[in-house]
Amino acid sequence: MDKGEILKKFSTEPDKYYKVKLFSEQGYERKACGKCGRFFWTIDANRTNCPEDSEDTYSFIGNPPTSKRFDYSQSWKEVESFFVKNGHTSVSRYPVVCRWRDDLYFTIASVVDFQRVMGSKVVFEFPANPLVVPQPCLRFKDLENVGVTGRHFSSFCMIGQLSIPNSKGYWKDECIDLDFRLLTESFGIPKNEIVFVEDVWEGGGSFGSSLEYYVRGLELGNAVFTEFQGELGNHTTLDQKVIDMGAGLERFAWITMGTPTAYDCSFGPITGKLIRQVGIDIDNSLLTKYFIEIAKNQRKFSNLLEVKSQAIKNAGLSSEQVTNGINPLEGIYLIADHLRTLIFAISDGALPSNVGGGYNLRIVLRRIIGTMQRLGLKLDLNEMIDWHIDYLKKTYPELEEKRDDVKTIIAVESKRYEESKIRMQKIASNLKSKGIIPTVDDLITMYESDGITPDYLKELEVIPEIPPTFYTRLSDLHQSVPKKEIEKLELGGIAETELLFYGDDPKEFDAKVLKSFEKYVVLDKTSFYARGGGQEPDHGKIAGFDVVDVDKHGSIVVHELSGGIPKEGETVSCVVDSARREGITKHHTSTHILNSSSRGVLGSWVWQNSAFKEVDHARLDITHHSALTPEEVQKIETKANEIVSKDLQVTIESLDRGTAEQHYGFRIYQGGVVPVKQVRIVSIEDFDVEACGGTHVKKTKEIDLIKITRTKRIQDGVVRLEFKAGQAAKDYLKSHEIEIQKKTAEYIAKEERDKLRDLRKEKSREKIPALIEQIMQTTERITTIDEIEVETTKSGKFCSTTSEQYDEYFHINFGEKLIKADPNASYCGLFDAGATIRAIIYAGEASKNKNAGDIAKAISEILGGSGGGNPRFAQGGGKNKDKKHDAIIKAKSMVLE
Ligand SMILES: [Zn+2]
Ligand SMILES: [Zn+2]
Repeated sequence: MDKGEILKKFSTEPDKYYKVKLFSEQGYERKACGKCGRFFWTIDANRTNCPEDSEDTYSFIGNPPTSKRFDYSQSWKEVESFFVKNGHTSVSRYPVVCRWRDDLYFTIASVVDFQRVMGSKVVFEFPANPLVVPQPCLRFKDLENVGVTGRHFSSFCMIGQLSIPNSKGYWKDECIDLDFRLLTESFGIPKNEIVFVEDVWEGGGSFGSSLEYYVRGLELGNAVFTEFQGELGNHTTLDQKVIDMGAGLERFAWITMGTPTAYDCSFGPITGKLIRQVGIDIDNSLLTKYFIEIAKNQRKFSNLLEVKSQAIKNAGLSSEQVTNGINPLEGIYLIADHLRTLIFAISDGALPSNVGGGYNLRIVLRRIIGTMQRLGLKLDLNEMIDWHIDYLKKTYPELEEKRDDVKTIIAVESKRYEESKIRMQKIASNLKSKGIIPTVDDLITMYESDGITPDYLKELEVIPEIPPTFYTRLSDLHQSVPKKEIEKLELGGIAETELLFYGDDPKEFDAKVLKSFEKYVVLDKTSFYARGGGQEPDHGKIAGFDVVDVDKHGSIVVHELSGGIPKEGETVSCVVDSARREGITKHHTSTHILNSSSRGVLGSWVWQNSAFKEVDHARLDITHHSALTPEEVQKIETKANEIVSKDLQVTIESLDRGTAEQHYGFRIYQGGVVPVKQVRIVSIEDFDVEACGGTHVKKTKEIDLIKITRTKRIQDGVVRLEFKAGQAAKDYLKSHEIEIQKKTAEYIAKEERDKLRDLRKEKSREKIPALIEQIMQTTERITTIDEIEVETTKSGKFCSTTSEQYDEYFHINFGEKLIKADPNASYCGLFDAGATIRAIIYAGEASKNKNAGDIAKAISEILGGSGGGNPRFAQGGGKNKDKKHDAIIKAKSMVLE
């Protein structure tokens, strides 16, 4: 639908769509802007242009229109107490990670808190009516503006004022009346400063008029009256009309403080501390002039660089003032903003990564580090996190308990960035040397595959500027979750299946065949669990045929049979394979236990990413920054088995979705969004609570045992735990034990063999003196004594052995003693030393032409190695184990004549 057309239509009937009671009471007049033609309402008779085209635009900088001064947290206190005084419930913020909608990663507006998607329709879930909420919203489209324009943030607090017109809530008149009184009474802004601009809103098939309210050209809030659905001209009034007023809290602070930028009054003491720490000395009036120019020029130029250069010129800044003042100041603003965004996101369980919304968080942290390095700022991230949380906890007390987790994740991610720098440098310098300037597409690919930010490439002068569309493109790519297509069967006109497994869950039952076709059967009721939530389907028999698969198509359960199908209209007997179901059920409850155990052991950022439960094994993928260490795995397993042995009660209750969310928080959506009004809450006492449609044990002891069999980092930010539960775990342990026993037996046998050999060797050493004596006495020409061959000729005795019973120690001792006993004798001993064979040679001094060194050299050559030594003692060897005999013959030939 065209917004312009709706606006045109509504503007022709201003009394019907825009004129509220306040306008008549206060004497507001409707005017068309002299410049852009937009319609606006004012009580200032001299005002001829809409707020954005007026002379007083941004004149609040340095000259606020009120004597009251409220910073970010004070502003919220003012807003909250005003609305509470006027009958509103103040609701705590929702997570910035949008767990309740599967089409968004992050909460992008306060109204998103209360929207639930059911099919193609958006429905509302209000915990109170009317209500106000301080909702931090994450938007990554305008990153290049953050820190530069004075008003763009990567996360900002959208005050949400929500009302459904009924006995409790109100409609247009009261809404605008309240907003007007908030500005005038609580914030002290004079009536004639407040201007309302006519606009419209459309989205999700519905639309309505809206009134934006401005003070000095700054849009403070926008009250949207969602009233109609369908196409314009052919539209109907919604059953449930909704007022969604969204206002920027940072802007409320800014309009009262009149600081040069909105950053100066939105981060508590942080910007001031950083400015002092870095030592920026810049005149405040100069800054005021500069940022007013920035604001004005943003209306004139779309290119940020042009906006800046024009503002520098008009404010009369020297290049030195830009280099030493504006540039580091922009860096400080960027760092403060980006860090606050990370604090919210990490606190709510998101991780920087290169998957989904994690991309945006990673780039934000890389920009912080890059900015610090570029400007040479020596800042302590942990200290800044402390400053932020100390300030923010006044508004969001829940951040306190996540302080350490935020620091952990930021430290892990910073380290990862430093580690990837070498690779990034290589790629960057390669591009630079080739003179290639990457396109926006290239930049996106480079960031997604290698984590290289355009900021980094700019710093290394690979690209002259960051293309203005880069962050918008990246944000669009990673704002929402891609939808999966499901195969649809033709099932028109069939009644929805009664699900017995949510009731008495009989394992044997009779049912009527409503439809049977190809290999599929639809019954009027079933106890067969259909595949869903990562739980595999039941098997069993229907009318004697094997059930091989069960799937849900909308609210109809379709059974896939093998071997044949029963006829339509027949009543058939059905049997669920209860052993299979029991195995799957134990694995499912174990998934919940392991998920909470992992979160307890690793940190609050652990969420279920996905899960799969079969009869004899299961896997749970969790969000975590690094691969698990064996100690972590052990701790998780121990914790899980503690829960098993505590025999905790598993309870299942059906709750209204809004009640469940308010009561348990968004932690219940571990398995993703549940698109139904009534949610099934599975609690393991206080230990774990999840919205889940699966089957579960009644008490945790039924599980017996949980055994993690393997863990693996399957993608950036996701770790897989493979495990077994119940009998499967016990079987696994048993087979594991047998294996361990087998290995132990093998080990013991080897030990014993080694011991025996050592014993033999020791014995052989002990017998050296006796052996020598025996050899000295022998007169036979050739004889063998205890595996030592002794040959006696006129030139002396030659002894040699290759026996395994002799080790190095023996050979050395024996040889030494032999030539001492008979200076005419010589000795050659060979022994195995791992992959090689080694030789020990001794030659008596009295024997002529017997040189141990020469022998060692010669036989080593035969053995395929090298050797040497002196005439008396030498060593050698080689790898030719089969040449032992040849070596001995060679040695003998060199000794004996
Ligand atoms: Zn205008
Ligand atoms: Zn579950």
